[in-house]
Amino acid sequence: MNVHSTQAAYSIAPAKTAQVAVAYGDGIGPEIMSAALRCLHAAGAEMDLQEVVLGEKVYEAGHTSGIMPESWNVLRSAGVLFKGPITTPQGGGYKSLNVTIRKSLGLFANIRPCAALTPFIASNHPGMDVVIFRENEEDLYAGIEHRQTDEVFQCLKLVSVPGTERIIRHAFEYARSNGRKKVSCFSKDNIMKLTDGLFHRMFDKISAEYPEIAADHWIIDIGAAKLASNPEMFDVIVTTNLYGDIISDIAAEISGSVGIAPSANIGESFAMFEAIHGSAPAIAGQGIANPSGLILAGAQMLIHVGQQSAASRLQNAWLRTIESGIHTPDIYSPDQSRAKVGTEEFADAIIDNMDQLPKLLRPVSVQSRQTPLKVSTPVRPVPAHRRLVGVDLFVRDTVIDPNDLAVRLIAATQQCTGKLTMITNRGVKVWPAGLPETFKTDHWRCRYEHDEGQMTQKDVADLIMALSNREIEVIKTENLYTFDGIPGYSLGQGQ
Ligand code: NAD
Repeated sequence: MNVHSTQAAYSIAPAKTAQVAVAYGDGIGPEIMSAALRCLHAAGAEMDLQEVVLGEKVYEAGHTSGIMPESWNVLRSAGVLFKGPITTPQGGGYKSLNVTIRKSLGLFANIRPCAALTPFIASNHPGMDVVIFRENEEDLYAGIEHRQTDEVFQCLKLVSVPGTERIIRHAFEYARSNGRKKVSCFSKDNIMKLTDGLFHRMFDKISAEYPEIAADHWIIDIGAAKLASNPEMFDVIVTTNLYGDIISDIAAEISGSVGIAPSANIGESFAMFEAIHGSAPAIAGQGIANPSGLILAGAQMLIHVGQQSAASRLQNAWLRTIESGIHTPDIYSPDQSRAKVGTEEFADAIIDNMDQLPKLLRPVSVQSRQTPLKVSTPVRPVPAHRRLVGVDLFVRDTVIDPNDLAVRLIAATQQCTGKLTMITNRGVKVWPAGLPETFKTDHWRCRYEHDEGQMTQKDVADLIMALSNREIEVIKTENLYTFDGIPGYSLGQGQ
């Protein structure tokens, strides 16, 4: 650790005023937002703020989306949203407004830096300095769910070529412009060979364009375990939406506290900045929440709008405050802290430290690579030659006997194009030659294939009608295509 002069010299070139929509949010949101805004103003941020109400109050007023229709225009005309956390009902009820905003406004990249600040904030991982790039619009967060039978519920995992290309390229661009040495990809492509397989393949392709940056791939389970035990191994991580959500909370927590991690949500024409944590209802209204995550998200926002000088001033004053041992309860420790303070006093300490540099922690420099990242336009692949070669018909059947079902399916569809080749239950092959030990539900995937190649949509409709005529209920279909001769569907487990 280097010892620095503690007085900072900042350029005082006038910054262009940024149009910023502000949502105070729910739970601890209003407390931490008012503290964060005081710090941003003290750092010299030039912002024209327009408040929007999002979340609980809007839900309770009967708007199930959590946002008033007119608020979308406020957000879009500002181009930037500074947002407190929003409460999302769990299990049932309203859809997550956070996810709706990210997706509606094309915020494809969620960038979450997590660095240890030892010895000032306790962490077992003093060398940890990881930035997680979480794909922000796709994957299971498409939120497309259906109950299909009495026993089986489904959530669709959607992963696209342009979505994958964009987030991975953004991670490499970030690494290049921030002097980072390595980008690691986390996926589960040993199991999800098409969706996660696409993510991994795209990572390999794009990494070749950045030869100066090391690249490696980790299966998410062992990758997450290594991140938790040896985060120093990682530099930049890029991953899909759900994995990124989970590992970024783990990374923030082991770096010191989930309360100190910021998150930038970046799109082509809009950006949103927030803390990674939620609305922490259990401590709301007590004035003890740590505003650091939101303050650092504010610094990310200032960089995004070109106010690097204010961003550096804010980050350095925050580092100096952390170093001085003035800590909120979540990061307080009798050994390392000097005073346990509430949200407002913590903000006061930061404001008092404005224009100070940290003495021991590495200061943030105005000239450093704190420039907004260029966002690439998504690249659409050249359309492949597609051929319909079969169909998976998902059938509800309560007899729970695959051999019996196969006999009925074959009898019902003998006049149709396409032959029954496989039945699976929850993905595992149960016909032909299934095992009696396999547990089976009332939800069956029945694969029909045409050995001479091309089927038509009418062939699929004929199959559905033929089954319906024998009172076999098709609850969903998935067409089987080849793309330039390569199957665009997975085998059954055990096939
Ligand atoms: P949470 O992040 O709100 O809280 C997890 C734990 O961390 C709690 O013990 C909490 O007290 C503590 N904590 C969180 N932020 C803190 C801070 N700034 N200072 C001190 N301690 C802090 O997670 P949760 O309890 O799972 O979620 C609560 C609500 O927040 C849910 O409705 C959830 O959907 C929502 N949520 C919103 C966002 C968002 O708006 N981006 C993100 C995550 C969760």
